[in-house]
Formats: sequence, structure tokens, C-alpha cells
Amino acid sequence: MKETTQEQRIRARMQPGIISLNGFLGKDKRSISDIISDDDKQLQALSRTPIEVAERMLYFSNASFNAFDGRVTVDDIYVVETEVTRGRMNCPWAHDGFHRKYITSLTNTKNNTTVVWTALNIHLIKEHSFFEGKGSAFRLDPATLVKALF
Ligand SMILES: [Zn+2]
Repeated sequence: MKETTQEQRIRARMQPGIISLNGFLGKDKRSISDIISDDDKQLQALSRTPIEVAERMLYFSNASFNAFDGRVTVDDIYVVETEVTRGRMNCPWAHDGFHRKYITSLTNTKNNTTVVWTALNIHLIKEHSFFEGKGSAFRLDPATLVKALF
């Protein structure tokens, strides 16, 4: 699908070194709307919505913020660790304020699946159904994410 002017602006902000060092698209050549609709199909096939997924991610990030020894075990099977760093990031859609910076890693010990996300990933999934382009450092494959989180 051809990109709109709006999408071109978003794409420009997603390039390496603008908002984040490595950018959001990796080596993905698809348009942003194609990336979103392909991931959305994958998620639909798993009967999950972006909001459900994002809320689950937030639940685990929140549960691990106050663990001062690093990792915590949540609900018996999820080993979670959140590292908060200084600074803040804004969203490439540029429609709302800044997001704090943290990285959460989660291992589902039942199926041995590990996923890592940032605060911005949660926002991008919840508000934009965007899991990042293939090859991006913080790309989250919807199927792997669902497998780890639920
Ligand atoms: Zn946004």
C-alpha cells in the first residue's frame, strides 16, 4: 500500500538516530500500515487484541518495578525483571507526551519463552497496534509475545 504524507512523517521519525538509536523499522521494507495489518492478522488468528496484549505487558512491568533485588516471580510461572533507565522517549506518531524509559524482560517458565519490551513498546501496541518492523532491536513477534504472556 502506498504511504500517505502522514505515514511518511512517521516513517521519518522511525529512522535510526531520530527517536531511538536503532530506529523502529529494522530492515523492513513494508509500509507502516502493511506492517500493522500483517501483525494484526496474526494476533486475530490467536484471538487476542493489541489492548489485551499491552495491558498484560503493563501488568508485568508494574509488578516488577518495586522488586529491588531484580527479578520477581509473578503468578508462579512468570519470571520478570524491569530495569529503569534515565531519560524519556516520545512516540513516533508524535501525538502525546513522553514515555519513561524502562526495559522489562519476562520468561514464561511453563513454555520457556522469553520476551523483552520497553515502555514505548507497550504504548505502540496499545495505541497503534505497532509491534515494530522485522529486524528492529525491539520488534515483538505477536505470536511469541502471546505465547509468553498468556
Ligand atoms: Zn503514540
